[in-house]
Amino acid sequence: MTRIDDLPLRDELRGKSPYGAPQLDVPVRLNTNENPYPLPEPLVRRIAERVTEAARHLNRYPDRDAVELRTELAAYLTRTAGHPVTAGQVWAANGSNEVIQQLLQTFGGPGRTALGFEPSYSMHALIARGTGTGWISGPRGEDFTIDVAAAERAIAEHRPDVLFVCSPNNPTGSAVGADTVLALYEAAQAARAGTGGALVVVDEAYVEFSHRPSLLPLIEGRPNMVLSRTMSKAFGAAGLRLGYLAADPAVVDAVQLVRLPYHLSAVTQATALAALEHTDTLLGYVEQLKGERDRLVTELRAAGCQVVDSDANFVQFGLFDDAHAAWQAILDHGVLVRDNGVPGWLRVTAGTPAENDAFLDAVRAVCKERSLKENKR
Ligand SMILES: *Cc1c(COP(=O)(O)O)cnc(C)c1O
Repeated sequence: MTRIDDLPLRDELRGKSPYGAPQLDVPVRLNTNENPYPLPEPLVRRIAERVTEAARHLNRYPDRDAVELRTELAAYLTRTAGHPVTAGQVWAANGSNEVIQQLLQTFGGPGRTALGFEPSYSMHALIARGTGTGWISGPRGEDFTIDVAAAERAIAEHRPDVLFVCSPNNPTGSAVGADTVLALYEAAQAARAGTGGALVVVDEAYVEFSHRPSLLPLIEGRPNMVLSRTMSKAFGAAGLRLGYLAADPAVVDAVQLVRLPYHLSAVTQATALAALEHTDTLLGYVEQLKGERDRLVTELRAAGCQVVDSDANFVQFGLFDDAHAAWQAILDHGVLVRDNGVPGWLRVTAGTPAENDAFLDAVRAVCKERSLKENKR
């Protein structure tokens, strides 16, 4: 049998594993930060209408520039993030993963590096590898926040071409303040002074769940600042595959150099437009999930767990002597959570109230069976 390493594979891909959150068939799945609520029926019908209309023109390529969709995304950002954005400042792709891939194809690549503060979203490093961009793992403090002084030292030392800041951060849950992002932006530009600077990508996949406002206003007057968003989480549309960015129009022009022509199908554009018509209903679910997220934090603490304050639709909890064994024990109770490989910690996505009850029951049972590490902080 041929193994992939027998193929004439690129050297940097040898021995590596693909992204692979387990998709197990268990009663309660709280492991990939999906929204637990199916799209409401009126929206499902609206999608059917818009997709039917799009189907009448599928003999033609879709709008390559997705102008109508980018206009509606800009209107959504303007309305919810309190900062005016035009369609020319917005770009959309098949999930924010594709947005990030296009950014790294444009601003990273062979001979260039990207830096992120880990633990963070594993796809930043994986997409860096896929695009031939060198990856640098930057530091976080004991409490998983970004220590600005340590971060500035790492930036000055490595002079990355691209800097990732995930806010709220996955898997730890905490949001990053505007003052911190601005300090990192300045440090990244200073480190690459005379070269056009460094691109700073703020990944706001979970910002709709945050206690803090969006960092969107920071793109004003900062052409190297990019904000990345997705409809996979707050909009409850992970299956749609729609991500987008907001930045200076020059960044949008630059990614045109690498995007595949007609990358965003007419069906995707029609579906996303239908979803955007129902923003208010969908953001209502977000409010319910924020309440459930806060309940998870309170109940996990009451059960003796340590919990990182969360601005997202998930919670990082611990501290386990053996997080993987705890993950398996919770799974044995029918609940799938996520082991991100952060020693001692697991991550749970906020589900429906019933799913969260099942999870909390499982954790309480597992904590009785196992010893939680002593409170270290
Ligand atoms: C889930 C997630 C995304 C979303 O990726 P899509 O490709 O839009 O589904 C992006 N960034 C982070 C940090 C995430 O956790």
